[in-house]
Amino acid sequence: MTNERTSKKIIVRGIVQGVGFRPTVYGYATKHNLTGWIRNISSGVEIQVIGHSKDIDHFIHELKINPPPLAKIDEFHVKSVLPDSSTSFEILASVPTEGEFLPVSPDIALCPDCLREMQDPGDRRYRYPFINCTNCGPRYTIIKDIPYDRPKTTMAAFEMCPQCKNEYDDPLNRRYHAQPTACHDCGPQVTFLFQNKQLAQKMDAITLARDWLRNGKILAVKGLGGYHLACDAQNDSAVETLRNRKKRSQKAFALMSYNLQIIERHCHLDEEEKRLLISPAHPIVILNRKKESAIADGVAPRQKTFGFMLPYTPLHYLLLEPEDGFPEVLVMTSGNKSEEPIAYLDDDAANRLESIADGFLTNNREIHIRIDDSVARVISKIEYPIRRSRGYAPSPIQVDQALPPILGVGAELKNTIALSRDKYIFMSHFVGDLENFETSQSFEEAILHTQKLFRIHPEFIACDLHPDYLSTHYSKNRSCDEQIPLFEIQHHHAHLSACLADNQYATDDPVIGLCFDGTGLGTDNTIWGGEILIGNQFDFNRAYHLKFAPLPGGEITIKKPARMALAYLWQMGIEWDLVLPPVQALSSEEKTLLLTQLEKQINIVQTSSMGRLFDAVSSLIGICHEATYEGQAAIELEAAINLDENESYPYDLDDDIIDFSPAIKNILTDANNKVSGSIISSRFHNTLVNMVFDICEAIRKRNGIKTVALSGGVWQNRYLLEHTIKLLRKNHFDVLWHHQVPTNDACIALGQVMIASKKLKGE
Ligand code: ZN
Ligand code: ZN
Ligand code: FE
Repeated sequence: MTNERTSKKIIVRGIVQGVGFRPTVYGYATKHNLTGWIRNISSGVEIQVIGHSKDIDHFIHELKINPPPLAKIDEFHVKSVLPDSSTSFEILASVPTEGEFLPVSPDIALCPDCLREMQDPGDRRYRYPFINCTNCGPRYTIIKDIPYDRPKTTMAAFEMCPQCKNEYDDPLNRRYHAQPTACHDCGPQVTFLFQNKQLAQKMDAITLARDWLRNGKILAVKGLGGYHLACDAQNDSAVETLRNRKKRSQKAFALMSYNLQIIERHCHLDEEEKRLLISPAHPIVILNRKKESAIADGVAPRQKTFGFMLPYTPLHYLLLEPEDGFPEVLVMTSGNKSEEPIAYLDDDAANRLESIADGFLTNNREIHIRIDDSVARVISKIEYPIRRSRGYAPSPIQVDQALPPILGVGAELKNTIALSRDKYIFMSHFVGDLENFETSQSFEEAILHTQKLFRIHPEFIACDLHPDYLSTHYSKNRSCDEQIPLFEIQHHHAHLSACLADNQYATDDPVIGLCFDGTGLGTDNTIWGGEILIGNQFDFNRAYHLKFAPLPGGEITIKKPARMALAYLWQMGIEWDLVLPPVQALSSEEKTLLLTQLEKQINIVQTSSMGRLFDAVSSLIGICHEATYEGQAAIELEAAINLDENESYPYDLDDDIIDFSPAIKNILTDANNKVSGSIISSRFHNTLVNMVFDICEAIRKRNGIKTVALSGGVWQNRYLLEHTIKLLRKNHFDVLWHHQVPTNDACIALGQVMIASKKLKGE
């Protein structure tokens, strides 16, 4: 054995800053008797180690298999260099390079070490509501600019006390360079406000908030990315009051409980669901409710699921601490009225939430970027995102080839935006429905913030084909102002492409795209939504689609499924008999108007929308005639399903047109014969599954294509998704569905960027 020392230079890229990377490397280097240094560079970290080659190998191995918990290593380059004469291992000052960038960590739920300290009476941060460390706490919500350093966060307002500063400067401390680190003496504090007057501070404020919640009051609670509205979920009148004051629809409220044991009293939980609940992002997880749960029905009217999350900030833990007589489940719904964006600025919250909340539990840590809770469920043992926001954004989607800087602006509903750079596509947090001034402002902020954070100056823009979307207006204006080429992308092609990118599907071989949703403008100026495409990232063919139905008056019919049911009946030449639920649901004036409209073709658009077919069926069997939130009729139709029913209805296929008239006729007969809504709902869903399979099989026979991609909001329907995947897989199809971005329109921006990049290359 020789004593010869060798040296290696290592560059690591990915999420490697602000996550305790340098102290970890310092620890490993010291452990393996290496000298050298580490420093942050703009695009990652740079390490030089000097020592015996065996020790260096061990060091590299350990770093690769055991990086800091929040780090995400995308690239790891090692090269040999000449050893220098260093005698110790050091952490050097950062060297920023102009224009360079690196991924920013999302916000991370409180870690077990911090929780332990917060509950330890001997710890100096005992019961401190803002305890955090390099492994947990706020990130994206407090960053104003990069490099990620305290002065560039909203924590700049708090000067560290000597003890915090010592921890911050000590490479071996868990709080080494933890930018939001703070304590009772130097950090943010909570206050309780009632009619703008401060009633209590610090721990007393939390105690008071708990008293109010115990007494059935509604509170606005400032959290990580905005305000929540909280109340006792088992108190019917509190829940009802909240619903009335929020003026929101029947949409389900999210719930929070102290731990998994409590959630398990109310919902069925499998191992994957537990894992998802406690994952660093702590999303809201959609769970099947237990019959015995005493949670108010008003929390999720006519649904069989609850959306639960665990506390993710220290404040939540203090607020929800179990105690006799204190509610074990709190409603924690976003702080807004109806569909406005969540309130996150204190003044705005005070204004907008004043009429909803009895009191405010607030604090003086500023939120720089608003962010909603993420929502997910588990499908086939894998996470299935429904809203990708807190805890995920702004983590990028990785692609296999470097992309030019492209801005994808998304669609209209459930908007997110995407910006590409190198092999990354950065997806913004959930912006929401671009239908009011507030959301469209939030949309522009999301674009500017993402551009700034990752130093991206878009050279191309991709938007939806729909000329009236706010995002399209923005794109056209900007394309004009800045002379940037614009790509207008068909909505369902964007869905297909997003699903391929989500699955890192790298070839240009065409796939079958089952793109089912509510609305998307087609290339023929009709409204599409029940589309079976054959295509790749570059181009597509509309291979099959649902038969067109008349959509009378657009938006008004989307909000009133009963009108859609009658439109279907009219098209099929079936009389509007008063025994039919949708006929009963509408006033005679409305029916007369509707009939004239249909007969004279006034303000009628043709639509092949799958969402509208669900609406029609839901209303036809008396489940939902009026939708107070997007997708309500379909959600309630799914909730009605009887899982034991295997039968299905017939449908027609006329060339490339899928006609559900035979199914609708059978539904009417069943309903007439007093077959229950649950059985009818199951049969309708089964018909769709069979139809999808038949068509995929026909395409495979004809074209040899055996990969199927599922995208579009309709695939949020768990029954449909699981049964489709199962049947297709059983018949040896490769099935792709979403894992990283939602299947709804929150994936559109991703698809737009991918398609634009392919068009640019002319592939
Ligand atoms: Zn921590
Ligand atoms: Zn301190
Ligand atoms: Fe869509």
